[in-house]
Amino acid sequence: MIERVVAAEGVCKSYGEGRARIEALRPVDFAVERGEFVIVSGPSGSGKSTLLAIVSGLLSPSAGRVEVLGQDIGALDRDRFDRFRLEHFGFIFQGFHLLPALSAREQVSIVLERQGLKPGLALARAEAALAAVGLGERTLQRPAALSGGERQRVAIARALAKRPQVIFADEPTSALDRENGRQVARLLQTAAVDDRAAVICVSHDPRMEAYASRVVRMEDGTFLG
Ligand code: ADP
Ligand code: MG
Repeated sequence: MIERVVAAEGVCKSYGEGRARIEALRPVDFAVERGEFVIVSGPSGSGKSTLLAIVSGLLSPSAGRVEVLGQDIGALDRDRFDRFRLEHFGFIFQGFHLLPALSAREQVSIVLERQGLKPGLALARAEAALAAVGLGERTLQRPAALSGGERQRVAIARALAKRPQVIFADEPTSALDRENGRQVARLLQTAAVDDRAAVICVSHDPRMEAYASRVVRMEDGTFLG
């Protein structure tokens, strides 16, 4: 059975006015099914991050419509969208976005607590999520004591701990060496294959493509082919 998780129709985005106007994203359709690991590749400036921000609701399109899990996300007000996102979405970005004062397990557990889990249970789940990304021994460390690859794995554990139905990642391996990049790619693949998440990953890292179930290419704000 095909289960459509993301369905974007005619979404586009322009920035600026008049001669300074940039068509970052031309009108495109984009759909992702449950269990897919889709990589959006393409050169810098081709509109990948803009597309990801629109389908994840972080940015409003200039036109078009985005449905996620059957919900028209443009129709939700701020509070309802925040709750929807907290419940269903996991985000992984290039810069990790970890909080300097918190240990690895706190980075993960606060997200789970915000979802309503009791602190003890949230910590236990955080420990398990960190163990799953190979950081079981490092759960009490703060970001400053972790390598770049370890920080990115904390960010992944944080995104995956709540078992989101949709995972959005923007250049998650760009700051990582080969082996760490491979680990991140494998974790995203596992989330799609084992947990049946829909994984959408923007990356111009060709090493990631072997792990994806589908690769789509962008150039000048639109899809190639
Ligand atoms: P990519 O992620 O593929 O590098 P982006 O989606 O970030 O591409 O950017 C697409 C185009 O839109 C680029 O020309 C970029 O300079 C422009 N752009 C992106 N964000 C903004 C913004 N906030 N304001 C103005 N132009 C932007
Ligand atoms: Mg980008």
